[in-house]
Amino acid sequence: MLQEDSFRRFLFETLGVRGEFVRLDTSWKSVLERHPYPETVSQQLGQALAAVVLLSATIKYKGALILQVQSEGPLHTLVVQATDQRRVRGIAHWRGEVPLGSLPEIFGPGRLVLTVQNEAAEPYQGVTELLGDSLAAAIEHYFERSEQLATRLWLAADGHRAAGLFLQELPDAHHDPEDWARVTMLADTVSDSELLTLPSERLLYRLFNEERVRVFDPEVVTFHCNCSRDRIERVLLAVGRAEIDETLETAHTIDVHCDFCNRLYRFDAVDIGSLFADESRIIGSSRRH
Ligand SMILES: [Zn+2]
Repeated sequence: MLQEDSFRRFLFETLGVRGEFVRLDTSWKSVLERHPYPETVSQQLGQALAAVVLLSATIKYKGALILQVQSEGPLHTLVVQATDQRRVRGIAHWRGEVPLGSLPEIFGPGRLVLTVQNEAAEPYQGVTELLGDSLAAAIEHYFERSEQLATRLWLAADGHRAAGLFLQELPDAHHDPEDWARVTMLADTVSDSELLTLPSERLLYRLFNEERVRVFDPEVVTFHCNCSRDRIERVLLAVGRAEIDETLETAHTIDVHCDFCNRLYRFDAVDIGSLFADESRIIGSSRRH
């Protein structure tokens, strides 16, 4: 059976190089269904979504990786997230006409932000200038700056699928620069259409059949948004009763839309009343102890 939304690791056993391949189909369509995007925006969002799955593969604990582009050009905000469970979500914001062009034309001057959210520790954030002609080049630049490991990515996306290929030198392994040059040269021959359509085994065979490659079992990738009424309630509590009551006077309900999944969370005066009543009860009872 063809694995539609799958992530695979592979290993060049004698070269000290690891690889990953991801293809998003249903999960990518789930992102596109929630927001209509111009093609020039969705191409970048799809590539970013594929990239964040590839980069999240090193997460060894419960958590998530968030890749963001914040910039001043037509496409000014891009946020994608992948969890250790391979659950993905993403969103893009733009203004005006987004041109079909190179990275600087699409995004303008900006920065690339990678955030590692570990449930057991403080989040870690790495920031670098958005450089290069493509999103893949910008991410490679990030790795050049932040890690000593040679890293390359190949990304593609259209209105149906998003895909990515990733190669990285293994830490603490013996590296021969000629090996790295050869496997990246082979990977450079991949076309966008092969990334988007060839079954993963065939793709890896087509690129690396003269190398010794160990391919691991595929893992499933799904669209999932971790927003919840609970989280929204915590935000409302932080905003405070006075400001919310003011909004309620004119709007009758407090409507909060999740950007990522488009879900609507609606609170009327009764919901708000009981939310803040619960809060005072919690505070009251903790004071009694
Ligand atoms: Zn959501």
